[in-house]
Amino acid sequence: MLEPLIKWFEENQRPLPWRTSYDPYQVWVSEVMLQQTQVETALPYFERFVREFPSVDALANADEERVLKLWAGLGYYRRAKNLIAAAREIVAKHGGKMPADYETLLQLPGIGQYMAGAILSIAFNKPYPVVDGNVRRVLSRLYGWTEDDPKALWDAARSAVREGEPRLVNQALMELGAKICSFRSPRCLLCPIQTSCAAFKTGMQDKIPPVKKRPAVVHMHLFAVIHRRGSRYLMKPVDGMWEFPMFPELPPGSFNKIGQCRHTITHHRLDVSVFEGQLSAEQQFAWKQVDAVPISSLTQKIWKASRTS
Ligand code: SF4
Repeated sequence: MLEPLIKWFEENQRPLPWRTSYDPYQVWVSEVMLQQTQVETALPYFERFVREFPSVDALANADEERVLKLWAGLGYYRRAKNLIAAAREIVAKHGGKMPADYETLLQLPGIGQYMAGAILSIAFNKPYPVVDGNVRRVLSRLYGWTEDDPKALWDAARSAVREGEPRLVNQALMELGAKICSFRSPRCLLCPIQTSCAAFKTGMQDKIPPVKKRPAVVHMHLFAVIHRRGSRYLMKPVDGMWEFPMFPELPPGSFNKIGQCRHTITHHRLDVSVFEGQLSAEQQFAWKQVDAVPISSLTQKIWKASRTS
């Protein structure tokens, strides 16, 4: 099974920047970005990020607000904060060199079983398994598993990575899931492991893997207030980012509706009405230039909605 898969990968892999040198720092940054983000979206962010912070050392010495500004738009900002914290720990405890063993990696902020396996296999070519959404789909279909069994999945990934060059095996499984064995319409006729695939043989591709139950969607309506003074705006710091003040109800005062936008964060759907007006500047607010501070995708949408009215 592995030989045709690896041959397919070698011939079809996307030329991604972290695949040129397999520099451990770049592999780590790419994997953190790709945890919640598609490759196409993450690519320009990755390039900007490693241009400005080309090494663990550079990232460890970076100003957190500057790092968050480069991350702005990628979402899940905790990832960027963990990256900085881990970089600082690598400099303080490991001489700035990315650790190459599993237990040490697991001690670093933001690094769990998946991330440690990805760094060790892709950067260091060590036989550690990875199971992400793509690998789960490919292996479940390959073995015809209609029920989720995390232990069986990790065991299957573990034996696969021991059968070939770890860097190639893991990336080939991930790439197959991303490019051929997609969730809705797998392109089985182009698949290099079609003859071994249980789901293909039984026509069960649309039943495998079982769909995970998602939490119910929560709808929320919020009111954002744009309060301007010259080129600065009243903003509030939230977890290292800056946002316009938002309220579940419009505070008393005189406000003018200037826009509307929608945003989804995990299972929360937010409808945001955007108003301009004057707020009493509370202690947690500060006057900021919007393009000089890190802002989230939601704040970007509110900003855009306020300017297109
Ligand atoms: Fe996925 Fe189809 Fe290939 Fe099986 S044959 S691994 S279902 S693409």
